[in-house]
Amino acid sequence: MQFIDLAAQQKRIRGAIESGWRRILDHGQYIMGPEIGELEEKLAAFTGVPFAVAVASGTDALLMPLMVEEVGPGDAVFTSTFTFIATAEVIRLLGATPVFVDIDPETFNIDPANLEEAIRRVRSEGKLNARGIIPVDLFGQPADYPAIQTLAARHGLFVLEDAAQSFGARQRGKKAGALAKVAGTSFFPAKPLGCYGDGGMIFTDDDSLREQLLSIRVHGQGIDKYTNVRVGINGRMDSLQAAVLLAKMEIFPEEIELRQGVANRYERRLAGVVKTPRILEGNISAWAQYSVLHPRRDEIIGRLRRNGIPTAIYYPIPLHLQEAFSGLGYRRGDFPVAEKIAGEVFSLPMHPYLQEDEQERICALIAGGQ
Ligand SMILES: *Cc1c(COP(=O)(O)O)cnc(C)c1O
Repeated sequence: MQFIDLAAQQKRIRGAIESGWRRILDHGQYIMGPEIGELEEKLAAFTGVPFAVAVASGTDALLMPLMVEEVGPGDAVFTSTFTFIATAEVIRLLGATPVFVDIDPETFNIDPANLEEAIRRVRSEGKLNARGIIPVDLFGQPADYPAIQTLAARHGLFVLEDAAQSFGARQRGKKAGALAKVAGTSFFPAKPLGCYGDGGMIFTDDDSLREQLLSIRVHGQGIDKYTNVRVGINGRMDSLQAAVLLAKMEIFPEEIELRQGVANRYERRLAGVVKTPRILEGNISAWAQYSVLHPRRDEIIGRLRRNGIPTAIYYPIPLHLQEAFSGLGYRRGDFPVAEKIAGEVFSLPMHPYLQEDEQERICALIAGGQ
């Protein structure tokens, strides 16, 4: 059994990918070919935002908006301690300070009450300049944007949505990627919408922000490539990856519904056996992961492994306890919710093509033991 079955998906779209790739082999525009603009338009329309900018990875999709904001040394950017390293890495890369915040025990997303406390603390200490918030839509569920936006407005902070795991999700009728002034998503193969390499997309409703992103994407170019008006990066997506995503978009809305069906079946079978995910009212998850909690996690994982069923642990170590951030002075005990969940969480196979009988086997092994 596969944790994520990309082969089953490929069977459905192989023809479209091959003809897309053949077109690129014919026109030869491997960098910034016509597929890039086509994908940007399609995904902006899907997300319901005016502008989309295709980039080389989800990490660049977070880094580049921070570069536009000119985040740097002395700045504080608030984010969840329970996320993938890239969320906080981009803050540090620019010389700014990630200020970690504990999570809500039900949704695993940044806890607005803790966030407010952290903002007040930073402001009253007066050492760092509070600049922005990067909420993460963990496992596919949008963070609590109504509460986060209220805090951001009150304290004059920007909000950058980390939608790397939530492309296809919704909150109160809005799509993930449209829940903040600027958002970044990832097309790493295992994400809800994945390409066959690295890729990402930035979404925004702000025209001037878009202009700056386009410049940063190509080494800070001005009117042309050899006129450089700022320091940028090589943040471009390959035409070949855009062609894969265009093919996958044809079946993506259906896949999001299939994922919901898989999640519903897990919920029906596993509620009361392990702690199943809670989706807040008004949210629809993209189900990047189906993550559950159990105090005897390792025992269950071992039993599944012995029966050929893969699992994963997202995340075994919260970011405030990672060696990479040891210089920031955090200690065990700082964020008790994230620390407890890191010891109990594990993720089950989740993809649109998971069959009912496979799910039944997984659930029986979790419930029964043998
Ligand atoms: C995957 C991921 C990223 C980074 O995306 P890449 O495309 O791998 O660079 C950032 N944040 C979160 C929450 C992610 O899951």
